[in-house]
Amino acid sequence: MRGVAASAPPFGAANRASLPPVDRQPFLDRLREQMVRRRLDLLVVTSLVNVRYLCGFSGSAGLLVLSESDAVLVTDGRYGLQAPAEVAMGGARVRVEALAAPDQVRLLGELVGAAATAGRSRVGLEAEHVSWATQRSWATAWGRYCTLVGTVGVVEAMRQHKGPAELARVRSAASLADQALSACLAMLAERPSEAEVALALDSTMRSLGAEAPAFSTIVASGPNAAEPHHQPTRRAVERGELVVLDFGARVDGYCSDMTRTVVAGLEEGERAGGPTGELRRALEVVLASQDAGLAAVRGGVRGPEVDRACREVVGAAGLAERFVHGTGHGVGLEVHEAPALGASSQDILSPGQVVTVEPGVYLPGVGGARTEDTVVVTEHGCEVLTLSPKYRPVP
Ligand code: ZN
Ligand code: ZN
Repeated sequence: MRGVAASAPPFGAANRASLPPVDRQPFLDRLREQMVRRRLDLLVVTSLVNVRYLCGFSGSAGLLVLSESDAVLVTDGRYGLQAPAEVAMGGARVRVEALAAPDQVRLLGELVGAAATAGRSRVGLEAEHVSWATQRSWATAWGRYCTLVGTVGVVEAMRQHKGPAELARVRSAASLADQALSACLAMLAERPSEAEVALALDSTMRSLGAEAPAFSTIVASGPNAAEPHHQPTRRAVERGELVVLDFGARVDGYCSDMTRTVVAGLEEGERAGGPTGELRRALEVVLASQDAGLAAVRGGVRGPEVDRACREVVGAAGLAERFVHGTGHGVGLEVHEAPALGASSQDILSPGQVVTVEPGVYLPGVGGARTEDTVVVTEHGCEVLTLSPKYRPVP
């Protein structure tokens, strides 16, 4: 099989150094306003994604304790060098304590105790990111002098709106995925396995400067494309088949998410020779549905309205029950985050949010099609960040 990475640009095309720094102190200031609103003396942030957002620390263990006047990142000795360096890069006023486990427990007790000097304190926990065992142990240790208060989605709500430096990272992640797809399309003519295609996309994204794929790359060929989240197998991709490729890159924590349904072995610019019959129709419907969904995205629109725009097109083609998943989701430090674009979403879109629009049609035993872009919501519409061409059957 022809080498893929050889045609790609050199390593490190998009590394952290070439991106503007994310200024994180405003995130802490905004979170403190939320603490005041909730009458919290202390907030213990245990979601590692939220910790990364707030102070820049990207390690695998740590928590952030925030009070009105103090912010402490508590981690362990493995991160004694990395944590202060990452925190300094984000510019947030955060003290770093890299300690052994017993000392972490003692420090946490001290911080909670200090917050309680003016009486019984209210300590907020992230209800969705604390284990039952941890909550029990903290309730036992601190229960005499504080009240534990569950909070839900406080930092996640802040994360929905991306500033320019965050958008630069998502943009870079989208561009790396575009470049990887363009470097890997030619190999589809050579009967690669789905797994080989996925590996080529992943390694090309990394060689271009991505820190990792944003999620497990999906390559679904022929009848396998009837499964929206098919995991790549040893099945050989046959020339002329529809192949669904769903993948993204991660740059300094931020993700992109894109799906293209392509015809294996079709030369660039060549549009004939694609699918026929119900598969061709499924692809045409998906493309028209996504056009309608993208046209519906703008500030002030409710999530379900984008969903309805996509679903109306699929429904008019009599394929409503073949569109078996939500229309889209927010993208940022996590590949799936708020806001949601499903029928039951309560979210209202506003400028600075990054979302996907990704209708699909799945025909069991036959195949399927999906197309997905990552876009930035603007006041009057959206800016599409994933720019890879879409295969459209010849009319
Ligand atoms: Zn996707
Ligand atoms: Zn997606």
